[in-house]
Amino acid sequence: MPEGHTIHRAARDHHRLFAGQKLTISSPQGRFADGALLLSGRPCLAVEAFGKHLIYRFDEGDVLHIHLGLFGRIRKHKLPLAEPRGAVRVRLVGDTHAIDINGPTICQVLAPHEFISLTDRIGPDVLRADAKPNLAYARISKSKAPIGRLIMDQAVMSGIGNIYRSEILWRQSVHPETPGRAVDRQTFDRIWDDAKALLALGVKHNAIITIAGARPSKSRYRERVNIFAKDNCPTCKDAIRRFEINGRRAFVCETCQPLKL
Ligand SMILES: [Zn+2]
Repeated sequence: MPEGHTIHRAARDHHRLFAGQKLTISSPQGRFADGALLLSGRPCLAVEAFGKHLIYRFDEGDVLHIHLGLFGRIRKHKLPLAEPRGAVRVRLVGDTHAIDINGPTICQVLAPHEFISLTDRIGPDVLRADAKPNLAYARISKSKAPIGRLIMDQAVMSGIGNIYRSEILWRQSVHPETPGRAVDRQTFDRIWDDAKALLALGVKHNAIITIAGARPSKSRYRERVNIFAKDNCPTCKDAIRRFEINGRRAFVCETCQPLKL
């Protein structure tokens, strides 16, 4: 599953490649043939990310909505066009480059009103300048659910993926099983600001880095994170506890992140 920063990075990249151009759009695999026909030849105005949703804006308010899900992948290549590799759901061709998207969970055209209802369902995204953290805190402060689940619930707030979850809560000394309603505003603001800073760094370097000064060139992410999949806490050296939240791996140092109910 790509974390939120990878979708923002793709959006930024595709915006640079395509904004202001009329795109030729096709569905080599065939499953998006109708949608491709509807959008092909029309100008792409902008490419943006809302959480893990990739949005290509076209004229008249129509958008192409992509969600990669667990298995989707994006390939970029320079023109001239290459043969499609595998089942390419949608191919976007601009003046200099083509983007192929294989295996997305969602690939659809949305009319303007459908796009508004989509963005209403997505929690504020820490990487968007227009995000309203108040909306996320309003939900967190009323919830009995653990903060480790809430900050990854894309309806509450978006952007934080599985590795960032454990790392941010450790950096902010918050136990992942703290109920949302026990998280005060100051603590929430620290989580939000840290997520914003770390994800922006992730977009910049195309790598998850949660240790100050770690080099993005280190190929193994384990050398760039503090506690995710580690045995011992880098600060206190105590054992890291491993558990699951909603079926995803989570990590905590119960010495540095005491549970406050
Ligand atoms: Zn510790």
